[in-house]
Amino acid sequence: MTDVKSMTKAELAAYLGGMGEKPFRAKQLYEWLQVHRIRSYEEATNLPAALRKRLSEEAPLTVLAPLAVQRSRIDNTAKTLFALPDGEAIESVAMHYRFGLSVCVSSQAGCDRGCIFCASGIGGLSRNLTASEMLEQVYAVSAQEGEAVKRVVVMGSGEPFLNYENLHRFLTILTDKEGFGLGTRHVTVSTCGIVPRILDFARDFPQAGLAVSLHAPTQEKRERIMPRAAGDYGLKELIGAARTVTEQTGRKITFEYALIGGLNDGEEDARALAALLKGMLCVVNLIPVNPVTERRLREPNKTDVREFKKNLETSGINVTIRREMGRDIDGACGQLRHRNSRGERTC
Ligand code: SAH
Repeated sequence: MTDVKSMTKAELAAYLGGMGEKPFRAKQLYEWLQVHRIRSYEEATNLPAALRKRLSEEAPLTVLAPLAVQRSRIDNTAKTLFALPDGEAIESVAMHYRFGLSVCVSSQAGCDRGCIFCASGIGGLSRNLTASEMLEQVYAVSAQEGEAVKRVVVMGSGEPFLNYENLHRFLTILTDKEGFGLGTRHVTVSTCGIVPRILDFARDFPQAGLAVSLHAPTQEKRERIMPRAAGDYGLKELIGAARTVTEQTGRKITFEYALIGGLNDGEEDARALAALLKGMLCVVNLIPVNPVTERRLREPNKTDVREFKKNLETSGINVTIRREMGRDIDGACGQLRHRNSRGERTC
């Protein structure tokens, strides 16, 4: 099946050209798809009826159907489980900040990385998401919340840099002024540390934000917490790539660090982390781990989190503590999808 919503303008022109259509039709269709975000070709009223019919047969539109929504009573954060046409399910999160709506997008159905604190990897990887499935998460969440999208973070389930081609397409259309038109600076992608793609990303989208999930200050500890990510690319190599990127783009990198009680939240961890990141243009985002029932990990206590932060700051490192959004709705990645796959009631 042809997936027109994943096509760039040039690809759409080639596809419609192959059908004998004039170039302006591609511009019209692209606008219907990415600006007006139609859910059926019937809405594309300036296209000839015969073309609409042919498209609906040859290139059915990717649309996501919500299976369940969990909404936080604390801060209105909404997590939506969407059904994909092939029966897979993915999660997207709407976060309401002072600056407006931020959408957290999944890049894969499931994940093969197996980080010990994360629910996304419990069932392994099902498949990569297409660009249209990523775009649709943004469009569907915006429609659901009745609000324009101000920020997109690729921090949902999956490892975006193991789905780089589709991610690239997604970001190209999302930030195209004639497409969705989001400013590249308002996009952040989070990776567990796929070094070659980190370098590609900095070259392809130098204005976009990059977050690297670090979670440990040494190779040995990182292997315990995120075995596949750390096994594939060593910590030295990862930090080297991060330094290169900050020098190339002039932009700060965010290091995410999930604090797990008794595992990586000690004073010596903070000291080792400070030494590792010394002099780098970066910020460390501390995330008190959101305990996933299946993972049996302890939340850090509040004093340890404060101490950890202070230790880093004393060494001149910028630190933020992630604002907890939607903790009453299983905020952590993959939890809703995982429970749904076991047939549990989700809303
Ligand atoms: N694979 C990418 C993107 C997905 S995870 C990556 O590893 O960065 C997005 C962020 O949420 C990561 O920093 C991840 O470590 C964090 N996260 C996942 N599960 C969590 C949990 N149970 N508690 C706290 N943070 C979690």
